[in-house]
Amino acid sequence: MRVGIIGGGAAGMMCAATIVEEHPEVEVFLIEKNNSLGKKVIISGGGRCNVTTGIDDLKIVLSKYPRGNKFLQSAMHRFPPSKVFEWFENHGVELKCEDDLRVFPVSNDGHDIVAVFEKIFKNAKTNLLFKHNMKNIVKKKSKFVISFAEQEDLEVDKVVMALGGQAYRQTGSSGDGYDILEKLGHKITALSPSLNSFLTLEKWPKELSGVSFEKVVIKGKDQKKYQVTGPFLFTHTGVSGPAVFALSAMIAFEKYDRQSPLEILIDVLPDKNVEELFVELQRLREESLQKTFKNTLHQFFSMSLTEKVCENLQISFDKKNVEMSKKDLRAVVEYVKALPLKIIGRGAGDEFVTAGGVELTEVDPKTMESKICSGLYFAGEILDIDGFTGGFNLQASWATGRAAGLEIVD
Ligand SMILES: Cc1cc2nc3c(=O)[nH]c(=O)nc-3n(C[C@H](O)[C@H](O)[C@H](O)COP(=O)(O)OP(=O)(O)OC[C@H]3O[C@@H](n4cnc5c(N)ncnc54)[C@H](O)[C@@H]3O)c2cc1C
Repeated sequence: MRVGIIGGGAAGMMCAATIVEEHPEVEVFLIEKNNSLGKKVIISGGGRCNVTTGIDDLKIVLSKYPRGNKFLQSAMHRFPPSKVFEWFENHGVELKCEDDLRVFPVSNDGHDIVAVFEKIFKNAKTNLLFKHNMKNIVKKKSKFVISFAEQEDLEVDKVVMALGGQAYRQTGSSGDGYDILEKLGHKITALSPSLNSFLTLEKWPKELSGVSFEKVVIKGKDQKKYQVTGPFLFTHTGVSGPAVFALSAMIAFEKYDRQSPLEILIDVLPDKNVEELFVELQRLREESLQKTFKNTLHQFFSMSLTEKVCENLQISFDKKNVEMSKKDLRAVVEYVKALPLKIIGRGAGDEFVTAGGVELTEVDPKTMESKICSGLYFAGEILDIDGFTGGFNLQASWATGRAAGLEIVD
């Protein structure tokens, strides 16, 4: 049997490795438009590659996917994060789980993850078709004919579509597969960037660019709809960081712009409630009545944020504690527990993943085979699956790639 796997990213590599290791008799063609494997894997996690998560409880793991969590159940049971961890270690890469439960190679180098696959393919003499830009796929009876921008057509018995989404297009994943799949009868759901930073209407975050917090809580003004907790960062155009990415995934398909912004509230001191913070601030005020209020507030934050809070609330920098009334203190507490910002757009082109993709009801979640076109399989981000940051997107690619690889051989 001949299998054509299109896309040498995380999902395609795992699918190909699974087939060549489990079924060496199958002839595998791993087709990649770049001249090397796993470009996105190498740059992932800031070059350190957050391979998977250290969370063991699959229910919790699955809750990290705003889209695709039900579909993923079977593949994730078969190849959960703990097995992914084991798989890489058995293939010679030592991994470590950090305090925040993100898993990385001990070397902190994504190249080591891709090197695992390169070694497998070298040993198995797998056909790696680099610089092969797939342009079309046609089903002819029980075979598939894959055509390319430059090279001759390739005829295979089965095809795995592992072309990724359309985020970070410079890595090669540029949304090429969607049109072809529509021609083959598949529905592609609405597509949108996810795991992105936000632009704010307010200009002041720019002055705090680079100021970060280990933990904030972000709520939509409609608080029941979304609430996220995590690290946070001001940028030169707005806000970023894992908490912002999580929010971006939850509102991937919401519309907002300068005319109708999305209002969010940021609690920059989430470990103290309003009353506790008020009592503490009042105590600090009374302990040093002649001290400036700015210096008192600075005990909670960096000076740049302290000054910005004072500026935004029109508290002069030389105002003394003695001049701050209870009402003034309460206003400060309420402000920093719900710092309001207006979101007017997504950071251009900086998203990590694409939300949306191949309609999941048209794919068998156990085998990854199309229910519409037999012999056609899917793996990775091309599916309508996306997760939060923390290793969940690669985990989904490993799991779906592995499922397709195990099931493609009857
Ligand atoms: C900057 C960044 C950092 C990230 N960090 C993390 C992280 O630390 N942890 C995590 O879990 N996730 C992370 N992600 C997300 C994660 O990398 C992706 O979800 C994952 O790589 C998707 O795997 P995939 O195999 O589906 O697609 P990809 O890895 O995108 O691979 C698709 C491959 O298909 C090839 N291809 C596309 N079209 C064609 C064509 N026409 N012909 C031939 N080949 C083609 C592409 O060149 C590419 O190599 C990050 C993403 C980005 C952009």
